[in-house]
Amino acid sequence: DYRRGGYHAVRIGDAFKNGRYVVQSKLGWGHFSTVWLGWDTQKSRYVALKVQKSAQHYTESAMDEITILQQVAEGDPEDQKCVVKLLDHFKHSGPNGQHVCMVFEYLGDNLLTLIKYSDYRGLPIHRVKEICINILQGLDYLHRQLSIIHTDLKPENILLLSVIDPSKDPIKSKTPLILPNSRDKSSIESAVSRLNANMGRETSAAKRAILEREGIKMGSRSTRQNLLASADLRCKLVDFGNACWTHKQFTTDIQTRQYRCPEVVLGSKYSTSADLWSFACICFELATGDVLFDPLNGAYILHFQDHLALMMELLGMMPRKIALGGRYSRDFFNKFGDLRHIRRLRFWPLNKVLVEKYKFSERDASELTEFLVPILDFVPEKRPTAAQCLLHPWINRIPCSLEPNQAQETQNSQKKRDKDEKEAMEIGMRN
Ligand code: ADP
Ligand code: MG
Repeated sequence: DYRRGGYHAVRIGDAFKNGRYVVQSKLGWGHFSTVWLGWDTQKSRYVALKVQKSAQHYTESAMDEITILQQVAEGDPEDQKCVVKLLDHFKHSGPNGQHVCMVFEYLGDNLLTLIKYSDYRGLPIHRVKEICINILQGLDYLHRQLSIIHTDLKPENILLLSVIDPSKDPIKSKTPLILPNSRDKSSIESAVSRLNANMGRETSAAKRAILEREGIKMGSRSTRQNLLASADLRCKLVDFGNACWTHKQFTTDIQTRQYRCPEVVLGSKYSTSADLWSFACICFELATGDVLFDPLNGAYILHFQDHLALMMELLGMMPRKIALGGRYSRDFFNKFGDLRHIRRLRFWPLNKVLVEKYKFSERDASELTEFLVPILDFVPEKRPTAAQCLLHPWINRIPCSLEPNQAQETQNSQKKRDKDEKEAMEIGMRN
C-alpha cells in the first residue's frame, strides 16, 4: 500500500505543515490512513495526525470526513458531546502523491484494547454502563442535533480519554518526548526517567501507554488492572470516515460485519437506528468480552445467511415483512420468510446465553437483556433512540446533557413506544 495513491511513508521525527507538527510514534492505522502521535510545536501539546492515502477516491472521502468533522466540532464548542475534535487539516505532498492530513485532539486506547486487558472476560458491569453512557451521548448528539449517522461504530472506533488527573498527565506536559529527527535510545531513556520522576503510582496507565508507544513493555498485569480500576473512564467516538447524513447517504454498503444491522444485510433503507444496533453489539461485547454475532467469513450468501441465522437464534424469527423487504431478501429467504439454506435454528435467547454461557447472575442477565433486546429490534423504527436509551433504568441516570423538557419529551415518546409495542404484540397474537 506504500505506493502511488497509497499511504505516505511517515518516519518518527518527520515534520508536517512547515514544521508545526513533529511525529513522535505510530498510534494506529485503518484502510484509508495511518495515524501518528504528533507534537504541535505551536500550541505545545500532543495531537493525533491522520495521514490519508493519496488516490483521488481517498482524497474525496477525506474531504467529506472533514466537512462532517467540522460540523461536529462547531455544534460542540463546550466539548461535552463525546465526539473527537478536529483541530486542523492540510495537504502534504510526498513521493506517493498529495495526502489530506487531519489533526485531532490526542486520545487514549481504543475499547478493543480495554477488552483485551480484561483477558476477553468482559468489564465489570458498572464500567460497561459508564462507557455506554458516553457512547449514547455521542450518538444522541450526532443523530438528534446533526442528523449524522456514524455507520461504522465498533470498539476500535471508540477511544478512551486519559484516565488520570490532567495536572499530572505527562501527555499534557509541556515537553515533547521526541524532538525532530532525534529518535535514539538516549532520548527514549530520558523520556522514561522523566516519566518516572514526574509520576506517582496512580499515573501508571499513562506511563504504560507512552512506553508501549515507545516499544517498551512494562509489567503488564498491574498496569492493566490499574486501567480497569481507574476512577473515571470516559470515551469519545472517532473515525467519521464513513459517516453520512440521514438525507445524504454515500453508499448502501455500511458497517463492519459483526456490527452490521439486519436492514443493511438485507439491502433495505437504513437510518440513525443502524448505529443503535451496533451500539447494542458493543455493549454486549464490553460486558462479556465476546463478539455478539460473529458470522462465518465466507462467500456473500453463506456469510450473510449465517449472520441472519445467528440474529434469529438469539432474538427469535424475523417478521416476514422485514425479512422479505430488502433488495437482497430473496437471496436469503423463500417466500414464507424462511432461510433458504439453513433449516434448523437453535434458539438461545439472550438472558439464557448470559446466565448459561457467561455465568451472569439471573438478575444481571435479565436487567441487561431488558436493556439490549429492544435495541436489537428487527424493525429499525421500533428501536429506541440514543436519548431513550439514556433514560432506561439499566443506565440508571438522567444524563446532564439532556435539558429537562427534552428528558420529558423522550419519556413521553418512550411511553408512546411502549404503547405501540404493546399494540403490535396484541396484533401479532391475534394473527
Ligand atoms: P481509519 O478511517 O483509517 O480507520 P481512524 O480514524 O479509525 O482511521 O484511526 C485509526 C486508528 O488510529 C484508531 O483505531 C486509533 O487506534 C488511532 N487513532 C485515531 N484517532 C486517534 C486520536 N485522536 N487519538 C489517538 N489515537 C487515534
Ligand atoms: Mg477506524
